[in-house]
Amino acid sequence: MRTHTRESQQTTTPKDALEYLREGNHRFVTNLKANRNLLQQVNETRDGQFPFATILSCIDSRTSAELIFDQGLGDIFSIRIAGSIVNTDILGSMEFACKVAGSKLIVVLGHSKCGAIRGACDQIQLGNLSTLLNKIQPAVYFERKTTANRTSANPEFVANVTAIQVKRSVETIVEQSVVLREMIEKGEIGLIGAVYDVETGLVEFLEETLMLGEIRHFYLDLEAAGADSRKAGGS
Ligand SMILES: [Zn+2]
Repeated sequence: MRTHTRESQQTTTPKDALEYLREGNHRFVTNLKANRNLLQQVNETRDGQFPFATILSCIDSRTSAELIFDQGLGDIFSIRIAGSIVNTDILGSMEFACKVAGSKLIVVLGHSKCGAIRGACDQIQLGNLSTLLNKIQPAVYFERKTTANRTSANPEFVANVTAIQVKRSVETIVEQSVVLREMIEKGEIGLIGAVYDVETGLVEFLEETLMLGEIRHFYLDLEAAGADSRKAGGS
């Protein structure tokens, strides 16, 4: 497996980038890891890096983007924070990765059995973590299917909140970053949400969240979210 160069990065389209990640995850789950020499890649990337994708994933020890997409050194920008939440510092990192460093695709990757999502479902309060978990509360609020046992003890509820959180993060990126929004509109980069299954190793891309060449609205809109008559409040 070859290290990405300026030329290979420039000729990669957002759709190619998505395909590389699909192929990489397929290699991961079939245990057919690409043959790469990491020490050689250290040498090949000594003068620069040309990653084709940017992945926002959780700090969870099972969700290392390089491993689950079978990527090597210099292949992807990896942003990690509990719950894969988006804030202005994360947006700044994504803007650098795409606008300055030429990456072609942003993936927001949530995962099953996420401790941060479960903590938000249970309204956990703990020091600075409370501030982070509060960013997930709108996703808990917008989960309307579950009427009983709205806690982390209900796996279906947790899975629903996880998917909602990913979709809201995708939409937050284009709402809060003019830089990335413009790049998506011009088709220079793509943006998509995905959920990783910690039991199977499979990444499921949420195809309906793909933005490439156009901005789509699917979650911040209360109607689209299937919301009831309750008002949006502080979301
Ligand atoms: Zn997590």
